[in-house]
Amino acid sequence: MTAATPSAAPILKIEAIVKNYGPITAVDHVSLDIREKEFFALLGPSGCGKTTLLRMLAGFETPTAGRVLLEGKDISPLAPEKRPLNLMFQSYALFPHMSVRKNLAYGLEMEKLARGEINRRVDDILSMTDLVRFADRKPEQLSGGQKQRVALARALVKRPKVLLLDEPLGALDKKLREKMQLELKRMQHEAGITFVIVTHDQEEALVMADRMAILKDGKLLQCGTPEEIYEQPADAFVANFIGVMNFIDGGVSEAGVFEAPGLALALAGVRSGKASLAVRPEHIVVSAAGGAFGGVVEEIAYHGLDRVLHVRTPACVQPLQVRVPADAGHRSGDTVGLTIDPAKVRLFQS
Ligand code: ATP
Repeated sequence: MTAATPSAAPILKIEAIVKNYGPITAVDHVSLDIREKEFFALLGPSGCGKTTLLRMLAGFETPTAGRVLLEGKDISPLAPEKRPLNLMFQSYALFPHMSVRKNLAYGLEMEKLARGEINRRVDDILSMTDLVRFADRKPEQLSGGQKQRVALARALVKRPKVLLLDEPLGALDKKLREKMQLELKRMQHEAGITFVIVTHDQEEALVMADRMAILKDGKLLQCGTPEEIYEQPADAFVANFIGVMNFIDGGVSEAGVFEAPGLALALAGVRSGKASLAVRPEHIVVSAAGGAFGGVVEEIAYHGLDRVLHVRTPACVQPLQVRVPADAGHRSGDTVGLTIDPAKVRLFQS
């Protein structure tokens, strides 16, 4: 098992790629380096261009401009079947009349591999994807999660250098989806293949990806590890898109103090002017009274291990969301003190 390392050379290099459909720019000068054996997620709201980008990597769409390099070689002119990468479709596209084993062997038979080699590779993949006991079943005799594994196994058995996956867990219910997220990551590590996955689900990208790219309106907004993107979002859109974020509008004084009604927070390295302070619910500390500023608990949302208080304060039009342990014992109507750790906030200034 070899994890991607930051120094690894990119296996896939996307250079200033553009896709126009008439007047619509679906992908707008996106450049990305994807490293060998990395689990890479393309993430963004509906219509941001992630599927179009993936289809250009696979060769199903021709870029209007830009190039795709695989291990340093320009693959842009190659037809899909000539590219050493494989696209797994969301619909699974399994052959209904063939058993699982036959579905897996089919692609290798097309490559005219020797029978012994085909059997060996199919057996390896059946065991990696936990499908040995389903080898003789037809797709219609499988559950959604099992079908999803067969589709993945069929893509992996061909040993592509890069596997492209378009919303691979999109058809599964929430519980199975969460289980399969971890399974997919395990299988990716075991197979040692670079995965590029498209998802619109932030949680999914945070759980699975080594690194991810956030797209909006065809443009790349930020690329980084889940931690980097969660903790240092490049702009207010990314901050809001990934996880829950409170925004407090105010201004920074000449002395470098962020001020909003009832709140003053000294910050390092900021310039004066209008600003929006972004702070995660887990970075606001609640005390019974006192604190840097205060508010009234309006609502309490239960989330298993913790609760999220919605606290009405003079500082902000929206109630602030504040994460507390489930046993903290707050009630609606309580007056609470709040403290924000200045080291944990992001300040967006225009
Ligand atoms: P979703 O999550 O909804 O699948 P997406 O991020 O994958 O969205 P794309 O399917 O890549 O988005 O589409 C990007 C933009 O390009 C959208 O505005 C879409 O309407 C447009 N688009 C995609 N394919 C075509 C096409 N064949 N002709 C014209 N416009 C297209």
